[in-house]
Amino acid sequence: MNALPQGSSPPRLAGSRVVVVGAQKSGVAMARFLLSRQASVVLTDVRSLETLGPEAEALQREGAMLQAGGHVTRAFVEADLIAVSPGVPLSIAPIAEARRRGVRVVGEIELASWFLKGILIGITGTNGKSTTTALAAHLLAHAGLKAVACGNIGLPLTDLIPRDAPDHYYVVELSSFQLEGIDTFRPWIAALLNLAPDHQDRYETPISYYQAKARIFRNQGAADHAILNRDDPQVWGLAPTLKARVHPFSRALDLEDGAGLKDDRIVVRRGGREIRAIPLARVPLFGAHNIENVMTALLVADLCGVPLPRAERGLGDFRGLPHRLEQVRDLDGVAYYNDSKATNVAATMKSLESFPGKVVLILGGKDKGGDFTQLLPLIRDRVTHLVLIGQARDAIAAQLGPAVPTTKTVTLAEAVQAARAAAPEVGVVLLAPACASFDQYSGFEERGEDFRRLVGALKPVV
Ligand code: ADP
Repeated sequence: MNALPQGSSPPRLAGSRVVVVGAQKSGVAMARFLLSRQASVVLTDVRSLETLGPEAEALQREGAMLQAGGHVTRAFVEADLIAVSPGVPLSIAPIAEARRRGVRVVGEIELASWFLKGILIGITGTNGKSTTTALAAHLLAHAGLKAVACGNIGLPLTDLIPRDAPDHYYVVELSSFQLEGIDTFRPWIAALLNLAPDHQDRYETPISYYQAKARIFRNQGAADHAILNRDDPQVWGLAPTLKARVHPFSRALDLEDGAGLKDDRIVVRRGGREIRAIPLARVPLFGAHNIENVMTALLVADLCGVPLPRAERGLGDFRGLPHRLEQVRDLDGVAYYNDSKATNVAATMKSLESFPGKVVLILGGKDKGGDFTQLLPLIRDRVTHLVLIGQARDAIAAQLGPAVPTTKTVTLAEAVQAARAAAPEVGVVLLAPACASFDQYSGFEERGEDFRRLVGALKPVV
């Protein structure tokens, strides 16, 4: 195995002054780790002390200095290191000022990577990251390796440091925000699933967002591996620029090397030789896009030395993640699907492509600057009725025009009622909102759970 241990010479933290920006999950994890290494920690957040919750207060008792309700620039410029949570843009004034004065600024992934000795596998892309991360970790663990899904999926990397060992496999889901904060982080395997416009509220152009994603490869060398979507021109265009060995996957081609598709089977080949062909019927996840996620996870497993027949057995008992194209109920001939995690236009397109027709689609929430007109061909083709919710409803209605009958609502409760009323005799009601949830919910999970509850409460006709 060519995995390079990370953090060959981690900096001394004891006695150094570190500002941790953002006091949610990643920030709390970083602050706790830094305190355990005897650093002097300032934990700061723009939110008020009351909204920060008990974790931040507990850290204060453990020795961190808490600066809530705003940032104190002086602490930033006097720091030895600034450790930034992924939710905080690196462009905010106190960070920019400290950088100008030569203070090192890193994200949580970078910080953790200085200390971890296990094998790092990074997964990024606009959509499919969590599913692929969970599946790859599942395939490795099923084959007896010590593997864990971590990063953006909900487990900060810094939390893994106390139990770290060189034979551990860390499958790390990486968002563009996390990748902006890396500097020397070098995954042994890095996968880029796809690129489509997203987060236009934080990036000036799609290109700057794509560039952030491509940072996953920047420190890789010839001993490392890059898994790339051959069918996505933005992704595949990066192949000639990479130092790592490239492993493509494709749903359109049967590839000489990598994972391809032939006669309804996923075929993995190395140097033209077929090492495994897995019938699509064995893929337990719904939707064509999931084939790409499965291909990526199989390539990861193969590179980690898992025999593919073993990986195929692991695949068989993977159940998928909640809120991703999850069927929640079949009621009076109508199937209700929760794809609350479809928070951008590209994900909603994949979602719609998974159903041949007769779909009542619930769209809306908090607009991230998405171009909803891209949905029009699929909506005309497959959607019988559109239900719009939340803050984005007027913007979406204005962009889509009178493509199909449309009901505007505010809450998901109203939307579920309207969708049921509009559903054909046999068909699908799909929540795939193409928007963030933060206008009415704490996140996509809460929105998805609300949908499940509302659909669960519907009474059968007879
Ligand atoms: P992420 O962590 O990148 O948001 P998830 O695995 O949570 O990805 O899936 C989010 C949504 O993206 C899913 O609900 C589905 O609608 C869509 N999706 C999943 N995999 C893919 C893929 N490979 N390509 C495009 N869209 C996908």
